[in-house]
Amino acid sequence: MSSAFDEEFDVVVVGIGAAGAAAALSAHESGARVLVIDKCDEATAGGNTRVSGSGWFINSDPELAAVFLNSLAGGYPIADDVVQTWATETAKNSEWLRGFGADVSQNAQHHTEPEYLGMGIDGTDCYAGMDTVGGQMGDFLLYDFLVAALSERGIEIRFSTPATELITDADGAVIGVAAESAGTPTRIGGRGGVVLATGGFAANPQMVRDYLRLPESVLWGSPHSTGDGLKMAQKVGADLWHMDNMMTITGIDIGEAPGLYLALWAGQNYLFVSPEGRRFVDETASPRHGHIRRNGRDEHFPLQPFHLVFDERMRLSGPLSPSRETLPVGWKVLMDEHLWSADNSAEIESGLIRRADTIEGLAELIGVDAKTLGCTVVQYNEACESGRDDHFARPAETLSDVSEAPFYALAITPLLGWSSGGPRRDGKSQVVNTDGAVIGGLYAAGEVSSTYSWRKDGGFHIADALAFGRVAGREAAGRAK
Ligand SMILES: Cc1cc2nc3c(=O)[nH]c(=O)nc-3n(C[C@H](O)[C@H](O)[C@H](O)COP(=O)(O)OP(=O)(O)OC[C@H]3O[C@@H](n4cnc5c(N)ncnc54)[C@H](O)[C@@H]3O)c2cc1C
Repeated sequence: MSSAFDEEFDVVVVGIGAAGAAAALSAHESGARVLVIDKCDEATAGGNTRVSGSGWFINSDPELAAVFLNSLAGGYPIADDVVQTWATETAKNSEWLRGFGADVSQNAQHHTEPEYLGMGIDGTDCYAGMDTVGGQMGDFLLYDFLVAALSERGIEIRFSTPATELITDADGAVIGVAAESAGTPTRIGGRGGVVLATGGFAANPQMVRDYLRLPESVLWGSPHSTGDGLKMAQKVGADLWHMDNMMTITGIDIGEAPGLYLALWAGQNYLFVSPEGRRFVDETASPRHGHIRRNGRDEHFPLQPFHLVFDERMRLSGPLSPSRETLPVGWKVLMDEHLWSADNSAEIESGLIRRADTIEGLAELIGVDAKTLGCTVVQYNEACESGRDDHFARPAETLSDVSEAPFYALAITPLLGWSSGGPRRDGKSQVVNTDGAVIGGLYAAGEVSSTYSWRKDGGFHIADALAFGRVAGREAAGRAK
């Protein structure tokens, strides 16, 4: 062992989400001695993977998948070697997990077909749905399986051990990582290198403001996604890619982070209004993992807070935010066991949902001009009656008036699911510097450096984390030899 280190392994993996677990398993498969470190304790580790929907996209045709990814990337092209690896490796995910004993089957309820079907995107036929552990969404299923798979193979996961810095040799190659174990600094060598699998930066408000330009948002996933890996990689000269890409969806800030997902399947008697009290969008436009089609183009949505205005029928039609039974996904629901009331009454009681007998009274409660909101609702109701939304083309079958008192308003905040950008890497998961040269011994996979430059589909991020995690582990193990 080099005297520069307290311990030495063939491969050191930083972070135990889907990417880190895949890297560790594949490095182990390749004969390497592996250590995984995670900054969280056992009860809170696992990042976004732990609280995710746990589904990965089924890539039924690698050749077509390359076409699909290029088409989704649109004006933000992805390097060809990355596209080719993504297309071939994501197709192997399910079989690879079955090889470790996972009970993999397709989820029959969610993401059974591509989101961009009939939307001018090529290659959609490769999208064959989403695989999950046991055919079920969420509920920690993938994370629990991966951790058990590592443990069965004797791969150590050292919790409460944050990596603080990458260690390089005189040539700038990464040879290990500095970390803290129970508050004590430690230096861990990685003969083949270090795999950064530290997740994204959605929980780092400064980075969210700087890169995503989201001054007001709430988190959906792990509060530990603070961009650590990205900063460590920057410090050793890594270039960055697609830093402004992300996934937001309609969310609710309940005053204690993280936030909750607003589910609009509960009813149709609603409209969205801006702080000025005007409609601004077809409220039913498919959210497609952070992009809606508006004015004939795809754009990130939502980026700003707005109000949901609805009537008594919608209030009675079901909870505005799903329970663990309906959708076992998200930090607040799974880790904090937060429960939204079935008839939304607790949230009315607490003042989170505002209630008034008239639209004008509601406007006053939420600080919107009463005349403007009154006109907006009248115009919306007229559109419902005529079956035509001339302003935003909301489909006729979704136009249900807001006319049954009492009326309600709920503040909607962009719910930031995850970030996409980070250290630029190549098709072998190797991080590259600003000259495009590989930084020896440094690999990145998963949300710390996702493949996606623009649009993405259901199950894409876990598929990406598993695929490039596997490649990173294999490559680092090969380098150790
Ligand atoms: C609510 C929700 C639902 C989702 N559902 C899906 C879905 O169904 N399908 C899909 O494809 N994608 C989904 N996603 C996105 C997907 O879950 C993530 O992009 C993916 O799981 C990220 O995996 P990862 O391994 O890269 O990072 P993570 O799972 O976030 O893991 C990162 C790990 O690194 C650790 N770490 C961070 N910093 C350090 C440090 N300094 N030192 C040591 N350890 C560190 C963290 O503690 C964590 O354990 C969802 C995301 C959310 C929030």
